Amino acid sequence: MIELKTSAEISVMQENGLLLAQTLHALCKQVQPGRTTQFFDDMAEALIRDAGGIPSFKGYSGYPATINASINEEVVHGIPSPERRLEEGDVFSIDIGLVRDGLHVDMATTVGVGQVDQTARRLMDVGERSLWEGIEQVKIGNRLSDISHAIGTYVELAGFYVVKEYVGHGIGKALHEDPQIPNYGPPGHGPRLRPGMAMAIEPMIKVDSMATRVLADRWTVVTGSGGLSVHFEHTIVLTENGTVVVTLGGDEKA
Ligand code: MG
Repeated sequence: MIELKTSAEISVMQENGLLLAQTLHALCKQVQPGRTTQFFDDMAEALIRDAGGIPSFKGYSGYPATINASINEEVVHGIPSPERRLEEGDVFSIDIGLVRDGLHVDMATTVGVGQVDQTARRLMDVGERSLWEGIEQVKIGNRLSDISHAIGTYVELAGFYVVKEYVGHGIGKALHEDPQIPNYGPPGHGPRLRPGMAMAIEPMIKVDSMATRVLADRWTVVTGSGGLSVHFEHTIVLTENGTVVVTLGGDEKA
C-alpha cells in the first residue's frame, strides 16, 4: 500500500533532505586518493547525529554502517572499511540515508577520484542525467512506470545498462515503502502518481549487460563482468503544487 504523506510530513522530509544533501556534499568534498572508505562513514555518522538524525542504513537488516561505499565494479551496499583506500581514477558511489522525527530520506551520488577516464566520466554523466529523466516524469496523473521507462530508455540509448536486480522505492516512515520503482520497463503501467507520494528514485547503471552478483560478505553487489557501475538517487515528494526534490541542497545543481 502506498502511504500518502501529509503536508506536515512533507515539511519534515524537506528539512531532512536538506540535512542529508549537505552531509553528502561535505563527504564529496573530502574525496581524494588515499582516504579510506571508513573515513567517510565516520564523518557521515557524526554529521547526521550532530544534526539530530539517525543513520537509516545502520542496523537495517543487520547492515553495519552509515553509508554504502561502493567503488568501481561495486554497484551498491559496499561496506566501509579502514582497509579500503580510494585510488586515483576510481569511481566512488556513496549511498546514504537518515531518519529524523520519524521520517526517512535517502540519496546517492557517484564521484570520480582525481582524474577518471572517459568511460567513467560518461557513465557518471549518463547516470546522473537518467535520474533527472526519471524525476521529470513525476507528475500528477502519470503512471509509476513512466519513471522507469524514462530512465531505462535514456540509459539504453546512451549505450549503457541499468541494473535490474535493485530498484527505487517509496519512502517515509519506513526506509523502504511501496511502491517498488524499477529503472526499466514499458511506460503506462502501475499506480497513478498522486499528491503525497514520496519516492526514492535511484538508477544504478553499468557498462555491461550481465547479471550482478553478491560478494561473500553477503552485502557488496558487483557487476557481472567487473566493469564500472554508478549510482544516483534523490528523494522526491509529489505535491499539489508540483514535484519537490527534497534531497537537493548544499552545492548541488537543481
Ligand atoms: Mg534507496
